Amino acid sequence: MVDTRNWFKTLPHTRQRKLLASQRDGLKIKVNGQSLLNFSSNDYLGLSVNPQVCAAVHDAVNQHGLGSGASRLISGDDPLFHQFEQELAAWKGFESCLLVGSGMLANIGLMQILADRFTHVFADKLNHASLLDGVRLSGAKHLRYPHADLETLTQLLQQNTDDKRIIVSDGVFSMDGDAADVKELIQLAEDYDTLLVVDDAHGTGTLGEAGKGLIAGAGVAGHARLIEVGTLGKAFGSYGAYILGTEQMIEGLRQRMRTLIYSTALPVAVIAGAKEALGIIKIGALVHQLQDHVRYFLHHSKGLNLLPSISPIQPVMLGSDANALKASAALKEQGFFVPAIRPPTVAEGQSRLRITLSATHSQEEIKALTEALANCV
Ligand SMILES: *Cc1c(COP(=O)(O)O)cnc(C)c1O
Repeated sequence: MVDTRNWFKTLPHTRQRKLLASQRDGLKIKVNGQSLLNFSSNDYLGLSVNPQVCAAVHDAVNQHGLGSGASRLISGDDPLFHQFEQELAAWKGFESCLLVGSGMLANIGLMQILADRFTHVFADKLNHASLLDGVRLSGAKHLRYPHADLETLTQLLQQNTDDKRIIVSDGVFSMDGDAADVKELIQLAEDYDTLLVVDDAHGTGTLGEAGKGLIAGAGVAGHARLIEVGTLGKAFGSYGAYILGTEQMIEGLRQRMRTLIYSTALPVAVIAGAKEALGIIKIGALVHQLQDHVRYFLHHSKGLNLLPSISPIQPVMLGSDANALKASAALKEQGFFVPAIRPPTVAEGQSRLRITLSATHSQEEIKALTEALANCV
């Protein structure tokens, strides 16, 4: 018998992670029977529990059942996928769109197609794990530049002049909440003849005019060198992901993307929910409420060690694992759920509380959180 114990190395106590078997109850979360206000969800607009969205899902389940039964390229496709793809592309300002299973699958499949061992990929050090893994799987030469350091990126572009080059960046960064300078990235892509991939999972539904995100906000949507990736699992309150680009790029993905071809299509009901959610996002009221909440939170958190974030992701920097765990436990006692984020998710010494705001929080709840934070950190 093989002894597998050493294959799963034990982590030190402060690094162990737990699956909480928590239960979501509207905007609250139940952990071990205790009901807490949830300040850790990416459901930025509360659309996962929106009655209109949930009704659309119910209707779709009644009509189409649950699972889609096969890959989109066999028999799992549905007209609703195509309608929603067109609607998303038009809203975001791109020629074409492809829906896939999740953000993780989108980035892994995308990088596998775009890059090979003759490609140089230039990537921000803080990019999401899905982009990192996608590049690794592709076998490309992986050049990582310090977070948001476009000077170093420029030097790397000057030093590595292969034919196939791709710059890859998160839009809004998932653990820091700050945003990439996408205008400057597009300029570099033009100057150095590269492709640019931006994953704006967190900017969509939260930033810019009616939540169109960072790319549309910067006025570079639909650029011929640009591919945008996003998820339906965050502000859309649903599940799944999308890739936006020129018609030619997206057709290339339809033909070859392994995580699309060899994976079961999303349930139609999940897309029906996301489509209803987009209709609500477009109205703009929830997005504006969220943006107001971010300003309100910042106004009441002046004493905290925050990172410069304009997004609903607001990290309170606490240094050690122990500090972050202690603060998280203290907040829990006062009824707030804000988990500690520790290495390896973030760098050594950068443990933090990662607060995420939602449009459906009230100002009173946000104020109470800032008071509790001031007392415990
Ligand atoms: C959450 C996230 C993903 C993963 O998306 P899922 O749909 O949850 O798999 C990818 N990229 C970024 C930047 C994310 O924040």
